[in-house]
Amino acid sequence: SGHLIAEHLQKALEQYNIVHQVEVITTGCFGFCEKGPIVKIIPDNTFYIRVTPEDVDEIITKHIINGHRVERLLYIDPKTERVVSDSKHMDFYRKQQRIALRNCGFINPENIEEYIARHGYLALADSLLHKQPIDVIGVIKRSGLRGRGGGGFPTGLKWESAHKQAADTKYVVCNADEGDPGAFMDRSIMEGDPHSIVEAMTICGYAIGSRQGLVYIRAEYPLAIQRLKTAIAQAREYGLLGERILGTDFCFDIEIRYGAGAFVCGEETALIHSMEGNRGEPTLKPPFPAEAGYLGKPTNVNNVETLANIPIILTKGAEWFSSIGTERSKGTKVFALAGKINNVGLIEVPMGTTLREVIYDIGGGIKGGKKFKAVQTGGPSGGCLTEKHLDTPIDFDNLLAAGSMMGSGGMIVMDEDDCMVSVARFYLDFTVEESCGKCTPCRIGNKRLLETLNRITQGCGTEKDLETLSTLGHVIKDTALCGLGQTSPNPVLSTLNNFYDEYLEHVKDKT
Ligand code: SF4
Repeated sequence: SGHLIAEHLQKALEQYNIVHQVEVITTGCFGFCEKGPIVKIIPDNTFYIRVTPEDVDEIITKHIINGHRVERLLYIDPKTERVVSDSKHMDFYRKQQRIALRNCGFINPENIEEYIARHGYLALADSLLHKQPIDVIGVIKRSGLRGRGGGGFPTGLKWESAHKQAADTKYVVCNADEGDPGAFMDRSIMEGDPHSIVEAMTICGYAIGSRQGLVYIRAEYPLAIQRLKTAIAQAREYGLLGERILGTDFCFDIEIRYGAGAFVCGEETALIHSMEGNRGEPTLKPPFPAEAGYLGKPTNVNNVETLANIPIILTKGAEWFSSIGTERSKGTKVFALAGKINNVGLIEVPMGTTLREVIYDIGGGIKGGKKFKAVQTGGPSGGCLTEKHLDTPIDFDNLLAAGSMMGSGGMIVMDEDDCMVSVARFYLDFTVEESCGKCTPCRIGNKRLLETLNRITQGCGTEKDLETLSTLGHVIKDTALCGLGQTSPNPVLSTLNNFYDEYLEHVKDKT
């Protein structure tokens, strides 16, 4: 409906003959999905929420022409019950720090000049004109940036490894195959700030010695695809992509490849096989893609959010970035906040922010005043954390230690009414469906795990079944070939750990 509102606004401006005084700009996502669609009036700093096409006429006549705000569309702070116009003063934004999402909601993503006006392509120019590839890698290494796709591998080390390979051809791949249920972090970045990805991939190409970039993106993301294509075409037109970039000898271009929606293709070796036209099945590492990736050539694969951090790290410096976050997890993380929470949306917080701050301060607490029960982080591969984890500072290591994981950034909140056994079954159902079937522990083990869970949720399980869940879950974790299988029992094992009583309740009197 955002596009419909923009169209109505444009038509109204024409109708009232003020089209030369006021400009309508469609931006990417503001993140505050709960209150969307949002219309911001600049420069008088007005933040209208839940706008519909029917509200447009009133906004134009009352506000734009006569200077009076449309009261019923203003944001009211739920605590003070007062109007808040500046997003900086809204609880939803106050504890956020938008680095990867810095341009989302601020610029027209289809206009390269708006990106350039916010220091876009400065990092590329500085790298090409003033830095050696190894110096660029040095900055990324010192920044402490770790892969945001789930693995958390140090990005600078990955780049260095690809840089060191002696090969005539190398590839830069952007992994845009976002597949976790409820996750839309990468989609928002590509829709709201596609030039940051084009710029980062080009910088990576320069750093590792590659002339070719490939974006592997889900075909189900038509708007992201369209905006990326526009960004690529504009960058070529401005001499920022293609032959002799910015007058240097460096040449680099980007192509788009489409994924068909298989979750496993988010795993980098499966993704590479899929791009080669083969079945999207993972293979054992080593060799790592940095040594032998796409078409057997050294390939650097980074996820969208990781790449979105690159230009600003180079512009503001490694020390600036590494000053944010925790000891071993630097910078920020984008999360898709969903479930039984008041403020559903896309958020970005410094690493080290606690789950409590995310759920209660930013998320506005549990819907309908209900009691918090659990939060699932890390998507289908993650785990369910409980009340006792609420003060855990979020970072890669703390989430792992608590029995979950960062994953790519899905965060689903559950309340007292949710049955944790059913939640575990939902996620396992998803991974069974998405298993590529290549290795036995994942293909057969997960099916047996799901059958056992089904028995339990249907009221036919026994206490012996609970032992089976635990034993089999650990065997699958230890023996599956790729990350999908190795993490698939996490929702079952974490709920067994944290909510054993609920499982017992299901099997009571059946032993
Ligand atoms: Fe395929 Fe699952 Fe084995 Fe990964 S763990 S290779 S998804 S069967």
